[in-house]
Order: sequence, then structure tokens, then C-alpha cells
Amino acid sequence: MMISGRCAACKNQRRRCPSDCIFSPHFPANDPQRFASVHKIYGGSNVGKMLQQIPPYLREQTANSLYFEAQCRIQDPVYGCVGIISKLYEEIRNTETELAQIQTQITCHKLQVVQANNNAETNMNLLSTVGAETNFQMPAPSTNPTEFQWPNQVPWFH
Ligand SMILES: [Zn+2]
Repeated sequence: MMISGRCAACKNQRRRCPSDCIFSPHFPANDPQRFASVHKIYGGSNVGKMLQQIPPYLREQTANSLYFEAQCRIQDPVYGCVGIISKLYEEIRNTETELAQIQTQITCHKLQVVQANNNAETNMNLLSTVGAETNFQMPAPSTNPTEFQWPNQVPWFH
């Protein structure tokens, strides 16, 4: 008798565990909950049939996936792992919305910086324009022709 060597599936089903047992590599005896979960959701014999239809190199992933999905279905009998997927999609949507809002804010701030720089340049231009006008207009009164003609007119009157 190899009772102590039986896998979790064969222990659960109270049968002898053959040396080529399809469950044995994926449902070890030290983790009985793993087989109990897939057995509860899919039925032990269905799990065995699925594993047999799949190439050996994919059976570990398949067993992990079945166990994960079974646990999800036990925790959330209505949606199972679809509930997790839709929650994650919602998180992605919310994060994308948040990202778009932040990118909009960044664009707005960049525009404000550009406008502030433009205003500063405009102010500088206005100042230099005023300065130029002042410099240009200041000599104008001193070069007023009447002031230059006046001394000439004075000797003419004398
Ligand atoms: Zn077995």
C-alpha cells in the first residue's frame, strides 16, 4: 500500500494513486485545498479529462489557472475571476482618466508659463518702445526750429 504517497486528488477520491496519475504532479498531498477547490467547481474527473487533453508542458499552467479560477468562483460565485478582471479594467479606466486630467493640467501650466514669458517680453518691448519714443521725442523740442531761428532773428532785429 502506497497510501502515504497518494496525491491530493486520489486522497480526496479515496483511491489508489497510480504511478502515472494525471493529478499527482499538480495536486500534491500537502495542499489538499488546491484539489478541493477545483473539485468543487469543475468536478475532479473533469479536471483530469482537461489535463489529459493538454500537452504535458502546459499542464502546470492549466492546473494553476483552474485553481485560481476555482478560488475566484468560490469567493465570488456570480462573477468569479471576471469580477477581478472588470475591477482591474475599471482601475485602468480611472487611472487613464486621471492621467488625461493631469496631462491637461500640465499643458495648461505650460501655456501659462509661455503666456507669462510673452507678457514679460511684451512689457519689456513696451518699456523699450517707451524709452525709444522718449529718446526720440526728447531731442525734438531742443531741435525746434523756432529756438534756432530765434538767435538768428535777434541779430537781425538789432
Ligand atoms: Zn493521484
